[in-house]
Amino acid sequence: MQLEVIRDISFNTNLKEFIDLKKIRGVSENEVERILELGLSLAKSRALLAFARVEKIDGICVQVEGGHVFEGKILSDKLHVGQPIVVYVITLGEDLERKASELAKESIIKAYVLEGAGDYLLLKAREYVRGLVEKRLGGKVSSFAPGTGKGDLFDIRQQEVIFRMLEPWKHVGVSLTSSFLMVPRKSSSGIFAVTGEEYVACMYCPRKCESRRKPFVGTYTGVTCDNLSTSHK
Ligand code: SF4
Repeated sequence: MQLEVIRDISFNTNLKEFIDLKKIRGVSENEVERILELGLSLAKSRALLAFARVEKIDGICVQVEGGHVFEGKILSDKLHVGQPIVVYVITLGEDLERKASELAKESIIKAYVLEGAGDYLLLKAREYVRGLVEKRLGGKVSSFAPGTGKGDLFDIRQQEVIFRMLEPWKHVGVSLTSSFLMVPRKSSSGIFAVTGEEYVACMYCPRKCESRRKPFVGTYTGVTCDNLSTSHK
């Protein structure tokens, strides 16, 4: 297993995209631009990646190099033995969220926009890292993040396996609370892997959600007998 820290993450930001995505209203465009720039100046982005291979799949258990075992129906269905994967933690650091808390004493709306800028920049950092990983793995990847959707396909408790494997508190300053949340909050974790069809957790998540990426298609039923032989090579 090979660990790598990426520090030179570039954010390909677009003001209109940010305003639309976060549905920001009641603040002038100039003010939003100023806050987004403040967010950019405060974001200390880092990504920690572990390149590893899938060693064994048994039921819903997926063992990867180093003897780490993930439990997750979606992983055991979508991955296959021998496949390279990338386990990741990406963070913006704590300065941006600390500034947002300070700003809240002066203006709730400005603090809200800065928090939104943090979410947007984390998304952009993730897009950048995903692009790098796709070049390295040689194809479009799906992202599997513990706790996304209803949490039934890849439980949030699997954060513990990611954190045991990467020890991100040592390398990028991200720790895990007893309720499996990351500190700093503007952090993201999961597994990137090339899959036949892109897996997007939103497809199996019935929540009403502003961040939805794909329409809800129903409950995940897993692989069928017809495609079992190709998905579990
Ligand atoms: S619909 Fe929203 S809550 Fe559900 S998986 Fe997608 S982003 Fe997450």
